[in-house]
Amino acid sequence: MTTSMENIISLCKRRGFIYQGSEIYGGLAGTWDYGPLGVALKKNIENLWWKRFVLDRENIYGVDAAILMNQDVWKASGHVGGFSDPLTEDLKTKKRYRADHLLEENGVDPRGMTLEKMDAVIKEKGLKSPEGNPLGDVRQFNMMFKTHAGATQDDASITYLRPETAGGMFVNFKNIIDSFHPKLPFGMAQVGKAFRNEIAPRDFIFRVRELEQMEIEFFVKPDDWKPHFERFQKEQVEFLTQDLGLNPAHIHQVEIAAEDRAHYSKWSVDTEFDFPMGQKELLGLAYRTDFDLKSHTTASKVDLSYYDEETKERFTPHCVEPTFGLGRLMLAVLSDAYQEDEQNGEKRVYLKFDKKVAPVKAAVFPLLKNKPELVAKAREVYSALKKQIPQVMWDDNGNIGKRYRRQDEIGTPYCVTIDFDTLGETPAHADTVTIRDRDTGKQERVPISKLKDWILN
Ligand code: ATP
Repeated sequence: MTTSMENIISLCKRRGFIYQGSEIYGGLAGTWDYGPLGVALKKNIENLWWKRFVLDRENIYGVDAAILMNQDVWKASGHVGGFSDPLTEDLKTKKRYRADHLLEENGVDPRGMTLEKMDAVIKEKGLKSPEGNPLGDVRQFNMMFKTHAGATQDDASITYLRPETAGGMFVNFKNIIDSFHPKLPFGMAQVGKAFRNEIAPRDFIFRVRELEQMEIEFFVKPDDWKPHFERFQKEQVEFLTQDLGLNPAHIHQVEIAAEDRAHYSKWSVDTEFDFPMGQKELLGLAYRTDFDLKSHTTASKVDLSYYDEETKERFTPHCVEPTFGLGRLMLAVLSDAYQEDEQNGEKRVYLKFDKKVAPVKAAVFPLLKNKPELVAKAREVYSALKKQIPQVMWDDNGNIGKRYRRQDEIGTPYCVTIDFDTLGETPAHADTVTIRDRDTGKQERVPISKLKDWILN
């Protein structure tokens, strides 16, 4: 089932996944703070990604470049000139809106429309702002956050918070070549924050101003981009289904028309997902040609070409870029996992996370909190297990039913209970525990010695 965004937001806050940014001061639009379970879920997704795309390969190099970069990087990449969204202003309230989103909400498909065309359609149809007021002319709004580095606030000190992590990889292309001498094809990968001054942040963590991206710049011979593009297109879906456990029926790949592609792209396929608010972009895949390496070569005057030892040719590699928004992946995982059912005649909400992404793999508790011998044994089991599986949790709050509900809500696949049988009350059950399955509610007795394997496998 796909639930409402309200249900997801409320569970995320209640259970310590995600809070509104700067909440006690009334918030700051487009920012969200991750609590302990949100961090754990995010790191699991990030680690699965890093494993699949970096660790399990020989030809993708990880980097972690600075967020602040020389302004010339963003001039060369075209972002200073062209990284903008179409904006229109409510002439009365002065509130600003994305023109393409307003058109969409009024039943007009904005795909492929120029700025002038959007303006014309808004005027022709007499579209108003959501408050019912007239709208101003549609114009471009640059989405980069600008700031100054150092104590002097002049043009020379202008710098931008990076709008995508990609830039940090292109400017390190030569460093990787010089340090590692890779042969084509090879790639660079980076996970990190990016910033976009979105006109209207919305839909929880879907459209934010401070986001996290996981990107790969994969360099290939100029005429060799297509097979690599197609392989990444397939692998993006495999990552979503096999690693994150998303429902394949909720995943859609869409070719992007030339007019709607980013300025650097000659071919793009977006992977869209059925989010609670509808089918929207989850991931991107673009054929960036030699646009970036050539632009940076021209602007920096540092040669970013490649010498092919076999053919004795020097040329500028072309680039295929798979890009993943970490926040959007989290939202997809949360919305696919959200379930409601009835257990023992009681309504319950639970997150049916794939075991690999679940922030807590198992919770361990004593049947009764006020029996020191149970608590001591439970702590012993917990400590030993935590050394083997770090993502286990101790829980002794409230009665056992409450603990189950709480663990269900945060998507813990297994609850491990230490009871009097564990202590040997029924000799045949000594040193065994009960394990309850989150999805079925069924319980099984398992020897403590087999606990780790049972949970992981
Ligand atoms: P959209 O059309 O939704 O604004 P985009 O096409 O501008 O997205 P890209 O520039 O391709 O997005 O960025 C790569 C990825 O980064 C996206 O697929 C998405 O997962 C993520 N992303 C982009 N903008 C945001 C944002 N404002 N908030 C959260 N994630 C974002």
